[in-house]
Amino acid sequence: MRHCPVCNVPLEPVIYETHRLWHCPQCRGDLVDLSRYKAIRRLPQKSLAELEAEAREGFAGDTAESLRCPRCHASMSKRPLSVPGFSLNLDVCEGCSLVWLDGGELAMAQLAHQATPGFRDTQEMKRRAEALSADPERKAAFDEAVARLPDAPNPFKEAFREALWDALFSRYPYRILR
Ligand SMILES: [Zn+2]
Ligand SMILES: [Zn+2]
Repeated sequence: MRHCPVCNVPLEPVIYETHRLWHCPQCRGDLVDLSRYKAIRRLPQKSLAELEAEAREGFAGDTAESLRCPRCHASMSKRPLSVPGFSLNLDVCEGCSLVWLDGGELAMAQLAHQATPGFRDTQEMKRRAEALSADPERKAAFDEAVARLPDAPNPFKEAFREALWDALFSRYPYRILR
């Protein structure tokens, strides 16, 4: 049985965003396999509101002291978790490929990732492509219009693409992730 590196109570196996991880019922921290952590961060199925609530309820501060890995008991190393406005660290055991996140930090990591322009664009593209697939004629028109755009990224291209999307999607209700 693995114990919480902060409060030493037994960790409970839970499913979070379809991934298995170990959760502390006391401090709400999470022990996650490194590869799963990256997947969870990238592909949140929860809404922004859900993640915000989870971060608010779970977060009680970042553990400053050095922690021991719940599996091999070696010292975990601190790695910065970049969340705008916060100074946070992850605790990582390289040997076991495990990462410890204090309560609420997993949701915060997801929120921070969602705030990046790359994520927003990808999600928005997916959403719009899904909506378009219901109308093959419009999808073809959209693909054709996008193919004619100049290759180099420039503000004009972005503005044009946005205007094009707005025009094509004016009939479809969609939620903007912002
Ligand atoms: Zn704990
Ligand atoms: Zn370890």
